[in-house]
Amino acid sequence: MLSFFKKPRFRGGVHAQEHKTATAALPIATNFPVPKKLYIPLQQHVGKPAEPVIMVGEKVLKGQLLAYSQGLISAPVHAPSSGIILDVNDYPAPHPSALPIRTIVLETDGKDEWIETQVIDDPFKLNPEEISFRVGAAGIVGLGGATFPTAVKLNMGRENHVDTLIINGSECEPYLCCDDRLMQERAVEIIDGVRLMLHGMESRDAINRVSTNAVVAIEDNKPQAFLAMRAAAEPHASIKVIQIPTRYPMGWDRQLIRYVTGKEVPVGCRSSEIGVTIHNVGTAYAVHKAIRLGQPLLGRVVTVAGGAVKRPMNVEVPFGTLISELFDFCEVSSDQTARIIMGGPMMGDSLPHVGLPTVKATSGILALTQSELKNTDEQPCIRCAGCVSVCPAGLRPLDMANNIRINQLDAAVDLGLKDCISCGCCSYICPSNIPLVQYFKYASGEVIARQQAQHKSEQTKRLIDARNARMERIARQQREEELARIAAKAERERLKAEQEALV
Ligand code: SF4
Ligand code: SF4
Repeated sequence: MLSFFKKPRFRGGVHAQEHKTATAALPIATNFPVPKKLYIPLQQHVGKPAEPVIMVGEKVLKGQLLAYSQGLISAPVHAPSSGIILDVNDYPAPHPSALPIRTIVLETDGKDEWIETQVIDDPFKLNPEEISFRVGAAGIVGLGGATFPTAVKLNMGRENHVDTLIINGSECEPYLCCDDRLMQERAVEIIDGVRLMLHGMESRDAINRVSTNAVVAIEDNKPQAFLAMRAAAEPHASIKVIQIPTRYPMGWDRQLIRYVTGKEVPVGCRSSEIGVTIHNVGTAYAVHKAIRLGQPLLGRVVTVAGGAVKRPMNVEVPFGTLISELFDFCEVSSDQTARIIMGGPMMGDSLPHVGLPTVKATSGILALTQSELKNTDEQPCIRCAGCVSVCPAGLRPLDMANNIRINQLDAAVDLGLKDCISCGCCSYICPSNIPLVQYFKYASGEVIARQQAQHKSEQTKRLIDARNARMERIARQQREEELARIAAKAERERLKAEQEALV
């Protein structure tokens, strides 16, 4: 029995200005022309990068496998359109650093010709394992931004006998409304995806099996989406659609789980260990397309918004589309663009230029003007404790920042740096404009870099020790062999001397 009626709780958070009206009322645009070239990174997900199975010069069809997943935590990538493979090489990644990442370049042929797909009449006759296998083969990852391979989560749900599947329809980041429109326009397909996920999580262990219910949680600033989803879920007793308060970051997994179920995910644990798993509405839609239509994940709805955008919209875009092409389509003024952000303004990444591709994590691309950016005129801390009261992770941002400033990273880690989710609430609320979250992002990167360096030096030391031990062993063996040789020679000479004496 779901317990979300009993203990609703929300820790910290802010009421951020929404900036959604420009795009929330517009239907999803499906007329974006397929670009002449698509730049498809092999790492669009958590885990190992995919490994190419195609050759430069090869002709490929839409939906064809381009690179297979490597290992348990990985995801394959497919051709978003038909055409010729132009290159497999390093190209700038859609990341603040724009560092190079291995990428497949596809020159499209304008035909958008599909590979043969497999349509299943009744997917509920498939084994649950078969559902997650097909979801994995379709390259589906968490489309809320986490990009964790969905099939792995379904498997964990099955193995851990999860009883609650939460479908995250909160979309709490300002500006973004791709999920809102998806729920309004494709509610039946999303609910079908939810049912397929429930089936994919069914355990065949008759003794420990639990019945799993789904809760679709939608912030109350999306009334049309709520009505559409509730109507679509109405015939299905195992799926409930609820409204939750609009407050950022309601979409953070742990926050939403706490609110919906009253359960706390212990630090260092996965939610499936406490019987809950969580997926995004876009992911459920992708599951529907993969299982019902045999279509892998090739693109997504992206919100293009911000003060510099003349035609803001939610638009369906193939992966690998350069932001420059998207901006041309939406008539973005480069003169007015002060910052380009992938994702939302709170947790998204600032990008250095528009020559970067959209990927599976791209929920939005924002072109913000100077007036939309937070004042950067930093003032001394007035110790108002505002940052402490809004932190959803229960941290003391002020103290962590003070330690980071004097390079005391270990002290910042002791204060909970690793639990910081970079939600930006502290920076948002700070009256002194202190860029707290920037400190935490920098420090987290430093901590990871130091750990990697330490790990590398330990590994190097282990290798050197092993080599020294091997050399010592060889030298000892050689010494022993030499001694044995000398002893044998001495024995031979002794025997010879004895024989000569007898003669
Ligand atoms: S919100 Fe800003 S001014 Fe207030 S205590 Fe935190 S860091 Fe200091
Ligand atoms: S960015 Fe980190 S420290 Fe700041 S409010 Fe969010 S979780 Fe807390």
